[in-house]
Amino acid sequence: MPLLSRTNLFLTMIALLVGLGGCSDDSAASGDARVEQYIRAQPFPRLVLEIESVAGSEPYGGTEARLIGRLAQILDKPGGIEAIRDETIASRGAHHAWSFDELDALAAQRFNLEVDSDTIKMLVMFVDGHYAEDSASSKVLGIAWRQKYLVIFKQTIESSCRKGALIPSLQDKFCQEAELTIWTHEIGHLLGLVDNGLPMQNGHRDHEHGRHCTRKECVMYWAYTGNDLFDVLQTRFLAGNEQSPGFGPDCLADLKAVREK
Ligand SMILES: [Zn+2]
Ligand SMILES: [Zn+2]
Repeated sequence: MPLLSRTNLFLTMIALLVGLGGCSDDSAASGDARVEQYIRAQPFPRLVLEIESVAGSEPYGGTEARLIGRLAQILDKPGGIEAIRDETIASRGAHHAWSFDELDALAAQRFNLEVDSDTIKMLVMFVDGHYAEDSASSKVLGIAWRQKYLVIFKQTIESSCRKGALIPSLQDKFCQEAELTIWTHEIGHLLGLVDNGLPMQNGHRDHEHGRHCTRKECVMYWAYTGNDLFDVLQTRFLAGNEQSPGFGPDCLADLKAVREK
């Protein structure tokens, strides 16, 4: 498989830069404050993932529970972490090419689930169609931006995860692990990884690839944001490891330092 194109990486970086820039209601400083608010127990002891999906592009049953299990180990949320499937997003068609501006406008409009004052939220959108900047060799699977929004391109993941060399009976499991991997990766960006608002304890940012981790076994490795994910995951599967990768030791150390400071 080819490496992610420069264009693709650039766009991923644009999305991250917008997230940290001053062109939204979050300044860079408040973006960093939000990172701490996700990780620490105060002032928000509870976290809600507000999920909005196009009908037919919802997360797999069971993915949320596994994701929350992972988050519960790295975030101090004594009031709990909950995923709430809220509204449906109207499909713009299986061939629709989502632009960044379109996703940003949709997110701002949809981030409206009312929660108690002890709760901080993230918005998670599962959509059909594909990202406007995709090319034949390079597909974007998910984007995180403004330190509070993320989108998963479910249709793109599904069309890629069913093409590999795995036996058919393994494909459903493979697609589920791919979905969990990309979702975990994008939440990692909202939590400030890598060097994206969360201070590094050890230098593990892969500067050539934006805000990603140098460790291949870590879910924040750069390849997990694009179609190389399927190669890496398939290699794991063929070696008998049928689990999506989690956060590696350096990323865990960054989270721990803020959680326990
Ligand atoms: Zn990424
Ligand atoms: Zn890492």
